[in-house]
Amino acid sequence: MSRRTAFYKFALNSLYYSGAHRALKGRFGGVGALLTLHHVQPDRPEDGFSPNRILAITPEFLDQTIRQIVALGYDIVSLSEMRRRLREQDFRRPFVSFTLDDGYADNYTHAFPVFRKHDIPFAIYLCTGLMDGSVDQWWRILEGIVRQEKQIEVELDGTNRVFTAKTTREKWRTFDAIYWALRRMPLALQLSTMQALRERYAGDRDVARFTAPVLTWDMVARMDDSGLLTLGAHTANHYALGKLSADEARGEMARSSALIEQRTGKKPEHFAYPYGDALSAAQREFEIAAELGFLTAVSTRKGVLFPEHAEHLHALPRISLNGDYQQARNVELFLGGLPFALFHGFRKLDVN
Ligand SMILES: [Zn+2]
Repeated sequence: MSRRTAFYKFALNSLYYSGAHRALKGRFGGVGALLTLHHVQPDRPEDGFSPNRILAITPEFLDQTIRQIVALGYDIVSLSEMRRRLREQDFRRPFVSFTLDDGYADNYTHAFPVFRKHDIPFAIYLCTGLMDGSVDQWWRILEGIVRQEKQIEVELDGTNRVFTAKTTREKWRTFDAIYWALRRMPLALQLSTMQALRERYAGDRDVARFTAPVLTWDMVARMDDSGLLTLGAHTANHYALGKLSADEARGEMARSSALIEQRTGKKPEHFAYPYGDALSAAQREFEIAAELGFLTAVSTRKGVLFPEHAEHLHALPRISLNGDYQQARNVELFLGGLPFALFHGFRKLDVN
């Protein structure tokens, strides 16, 4: 666990036991929430270095969370029903929508059976380039390289850097430094830096080993047959759209949507911005998503839904069901909205 995670866990625990989230739920709980998931998979043996673990929850935790949300009085709804409730301001009952990003095979093998058992709708935002293997899961390749190497040399921002990665602590620090340098770089430099790392430290077989299996179109079709799945688009290449020109960003969004339509016969009506933080998706991207005809678009800005979000359907916040926080009390805290209210200085909307 990183030190930052340890701090948040401490803060969340303190909030929970203060009972403040229950007392203030009416003010900050909003009318509903969108939950973000990536991987759903059985727990793996931990080697102490697992930076991408935050993207995974277990099928048991998903099952338990669904029961808990229902017990708390929420309806679990599809994205189109979520949109209807926001537009018609129909807030008789609070609601939650489950969304999964990228399109990993475990969504079919481990998440789908849980959704089917409870007969509840869910959405998957597909990144078509991740599915056909034309774009790297660079965050996992980087994790694999840092796990296997003891020292990593890489040019970052024009300077040749040498990182030690012998101990678990050094591996966390090295991963964080390289990961965030890559996230902040212009796209072309990010791609060439990652390519240099691959050439130096990871052959094709390593890359295949580090990379998570993705959904096949056949798996997508079988989930679609259940009537529970909403397919959304998540760009062609999983680039941070904020780093692209407006035309390139539009192309990334439109291309994934066209490919999904070609493969499934259905034009995706919903969209998720890759990475989804304020640097990856802001006003310009929200406008492009609306122009392209998506009915809703979601970011990863944190928060619950308020009635005011009806006016910002292309800038919807979400709550990550995070691998490091797999505890029932955190789900209740998050849905109560107080952690986000504190984080946002008690502003309800974060849409610019
Ligand atoms: Zn993604």
